[in-house]
Amino acid sequence: MKKKIGILTSGGDAPGMNAAIRAAVRTGIFMGAEVYGIKSGYEGLIDGNIEPMTASSVSDILHRGGTILRTARSERFMTSEGRQKAAEVLRERGIEDLVIIGGDGSLNGGMKLSELGINVMGIPGTIDNDMAYTERTIGFDTAVNTALSAISNVRDTSSSHERTTIIEVMGRNCGDIAVWAGTTSGAESILIPEVPVDIENVCRKVTQGRKRGKLHNIIVKAEGVRLDSGVLAKHIMERTGMETKIVVLGHVQRGGSPTAVDRMLASSTAFKAVELIADGSERNQAVGMVKGEIVSIPLEKALKAKKTMDMRCVKMAEILSI
Ligand code: ATP
Repeated sequence: MKKKIGILTSGGDAPGMNAAIRAAVRTGIFMGAEVYGIKSGYEGLIDGNIEPMTASSVSDILHRGGTILRTARSERFMTSEGRQKAAEVLRERGIEDLVIIGGDGSLNGGMKLSELGINVMGIPGTIDNDMAYTERTIGFDTAVNTALSAISNVRDTSSSHERTTIIEVMGRNCGDIAVWAGTTSGAESILIPEVPVDIENVCRKVTQGRKRGKLHNIIVKAEGVRLDSGVLAKHIMERTGMETKIVVLGHVQRGGSPTAVDRMLASSTAFKAVELIADGSERNQAVGMVKGEIVSIPLEKALKAKKTMDMRCVKMAEILSI
């Protein structure tokens, strides 16, 4: 294909973004395209911070967290002048096709760019798993495994001291990390933004666990839950008499070497995106996973989908932690 393809990463970084960059660059080169890396997301695009990429410029990155292209949040791109400038930069360089690796916000930005004539392929790169059109997002599996490992460590010390521990994990609007990390670590309570917090139930589980001889009580709480962890801890201590500590996992969940699951999802979605560009018949698509298959969905339709919580999984976690 005689095309020039641009690649950028945008929004929060996620483990596996590098695997997606590598796959997009190498698939493009294999198919005869010229591939360009755009640095620091839409900020770099507006500034024309663009470099040609070769098969060897993506050597040795498959296993690395973060993104070699760097990422940013761009206020300028939120304005129509900023997006006009971005489209102009691409046109000047003859780049008509753009692979965007990022979350919902980034793909929304991509859709607006597509309205200015650029062919945009969106790849779901965010640890939150909050994109409705795809079952999984790149980085989620790694983030869950990082959280799981940290929770397991905290559990050891909680048992030794017979404590309750509230562990805050990432997830502003979506509780998937909390549900997966909480279920797989055997947490006693999982608090997510999608379900109102029942403090009495949390306290009841602490007391019930104690009666049954449980040494620890782990509460996994998503950051987006509208209840301050300090307030919750105070309440638990007053109601149950159990010492309660708070652990905020924070940005450790964003880093680290991506799992095989994330590397595979990243490689196969990026491969598909470039295949679509080469084929040319379907423009402005979001690539993701539906029922285990790598599929593409028109960007507009993908972004209109509303994410819902798997309440069966939430209920299962509640039952398994009695
Ligand atoms: P994460 O899920 O990790 O936060 P994200 O891609 O959703 O990733 P955002 O900060 O929401 O992260 O978006 C990244 C960038 O995309 C923004 O800084 C902005 O430049 C652009 N963007 C977001 N929403 C829009 C929009 N509605 N219109 C134009 N550009 C947007």
